[in-house]
Amino acid sequence: MTSPVNVTVTGAAGQIGYALLFRIASGQMLGPETPVRLRLLEIPQGVKAAEGTAMELDDCAFPLVAGIDIVDDPTVGFDGANVALLVGARPRGPGMERGDLLEANGGIFKPQGQAINAGAADDVRVLVVGNPANTNALIAASNAPDVPTDRFTAMTRLDHNRALTQVAKKAGVPVSEVRRLTIWGNHSATQYPDLFHAEVGGRPGTELTDDRAWLEQDFIPTVAKRGAAIIDARGASSAASAANAAIDHVHDWVLGTPEGDWTSAGVVSDGSYGVPEGLISSFPVVSQNGAWEIVQGLEISDFSRGRIDASVGELDDERAAVRQLGLV
Ligand code: NDP
Repeated sequence: MTSPVNVTVTGAAGQIGYALLFRIASGQMLGPETPVRLRLLEIPQGVKAAEGTAMELDDCAFPLVAGIDIVDDPTVGFDGANVALLVGARPRGPGMERGDLLEANGGIFKPQGQAINAGAADDVRVLVVGNPANTNALIAASNAPDVPTDRFTAMTRLDHNRALTQVAKKAGVPVSEVRRLTIWGNHSATQYPDLFHAEVGGRPGTELTDDRAWLEQDFIPTVAKRGAAIIDARGASSAASAANAAIDHVHDWVLGTPEGDWTSAGVVSDGSYGVPEGLISSFPVVSQNGAWEIVQGLEISDFSRGRIDASVGELDDERAAVRQLGLV
């Protein structure tokens, strides 16, 4: 057996943390041969609940769990971390403007970036789930100058998975027969799920995009507003599906994406597809040898261009706002 991988989860006592930790511990994220040492990072008020979660993890007697620590200090929390899942974030409160939200999250993600810079393992891989995820990832990355920026990613896999199922249902095919779909831009209502390069049940995705009414009035808004629909139905935000997407993201990052397919992830832009360099934007990506690569050479239709630009414009505005706050 290999030596344990150190996995740090912030917001460990929250809803997503509760759905996530047991799956990491059972080997679904890093594979059935890889032991994990879990570090649960919480704010002081969350520590007691995290202790409860740790007791339940103990009671599962997972053979892959090499140890569980509960901490409230990011410096300790990220020391030696190989995988860091940044789930805990400040939710938007009543009357809170976007600038307030960015500032409040800057107070969390700036010190976390600094702590990752100071003590994480050389191969650290960071996934930001806490919203606004793309810009929180940018803040953390900007405050970790010694860590390559491509190790900081934001989660758009849930949007990707939501889109896969909507398409599979529309086409009457299993989810496994929907490939090469892309989420572009920000993990927000402006995100753009792109079917123009998809393959659905062996047929080109353009057979679906030809139905513009379905595309514009059904598919795109259903994917973009799915989170709100779940809150409406469940009375609570999505947690298990968000945790599942985090597992998928890290699994594919470490172990690779399937041949002939790609997925979506928020990664640092190198200027591809006209997305300004340095923004953390969702792209079509493959993972090879443990690193994400942006899929190149896709032709972007006018329809797609306008929507990608709108979402990327929002990311640019968020970057300008956090720059002004001195967070990046
Ligand atoms: P959740 O576990 O439900 O959500 C955590 C974060 O994930 C939120 O920012 C949420 O954004 C985001 N998120 C991303 N995608 C989704 C999705 N599809 N569905 C739902 N949420 C999504 O929050 P809880 O309030 O249950 O728990 C948060 C925990 O984090 C608390 O225990 C708190 O103490 C802790 N915390 C820890 C910090 C730290 O470790 N330093 C800092 C801040 C909080 P959105 O709000 O937009 O739904």
